[in-house]
Amino acid sequence: RKMVGKLTTGCMEFDEMMGGGIETQAITELYGEFGSGKTQLAHQFAVNVQMDREHGGLNGSVIIIDTENTFRPERIAQMVKGLSEKYGMELDPEEFLQNIHVARAYNSNHQILLVDSATDLANELREMGKPVRLLIVDSLMAHFRAEYVGRGTLADRQQKLNKHMHGLLRFGDLFNACVVVTNQVMAKPDAFFGDPTRPVGGHVVGHTATFRLYLRKSKGDKRIIRLVDSPNLPEGEAVIAVTTAGLTD
Ligand code: ADP
Ligand code: MG
Repeated sequence: RKMVGKLTTGCMEFDEMMGGGIETQAITELYGEFGSGKTQLAHQFAVNVQMDREHGGLNGSVIIIDTENTFRPERIAQMVKGLSEKYGMELDPEEFLQNIHVARAYNSNHQILLVDSATDLANELREMGKPVRLLIVDSLMAHFRAEYVGRGTLADRQQKLNKHMHGLLRFGDLFNACVVVTNQVMAKPDAFFGDPTRPVGGHVVGHTATFRLYLRKSKGDKRIIRLVDSPNLPEGEAVIAVTTAGLTD
């Protein structure tokens, strides 16, 4: 087993809550309502992971499986500019964009297959000296939810999802990479559990995600992030801000 790497979130409180940052060889799940900032965090991680270790990065490249067409190169450029100012360095947004490999997933089967393609690409990039240290799936459940409707399809869905989650875990182990997935919350309070803030995906996602983070909106650009589930860290909350320059304290 390789040593676990830590990727900075760029926010002090958030890093502290995570014991230094998000881990490689683990799945970190970001869940929360629409607009809570899941995709923003994913973009920021895709920038941070390319920084050197001195600046909390992993000198790595990124693969994004984009299921909702929400990846925005311009947003990456803004965040790179933000880091340039934060550290007083001259960072080139184009270079950062070249190390982010985005694939659109058109349905859930395609999404699962893209993890195999990601593995092939990561093998190539490793040989080129650009190891992939971050794999993002944004969003994990959107296609599954749209395709498997009705009670009779649930077992089928969970079986596929289980395969997908284990493919992601394997990728993280194989390449010593962080795996970040975003997830939605239940649309309305569940009659049985009564908790409107539960992520979807049931036990399969719950048991394979290593760290679960619940995002919610606060005043203005502030977001509250709660660490809900972790194998080695206490539960906690951190406040961050989503600004044009990216995530800040
Ligand atoms: P979701 O959880 O649905 O993925 P997003 O990550 O897309 O949510 O968050 C969208 C929110 O992020 C916007 O409502 C806005 O508050 C903030 N945001 C997006 N782009 C910018 C930007 N360029 N500058 C500042 N804030 C932004
Ligand atoms: Mg999103």
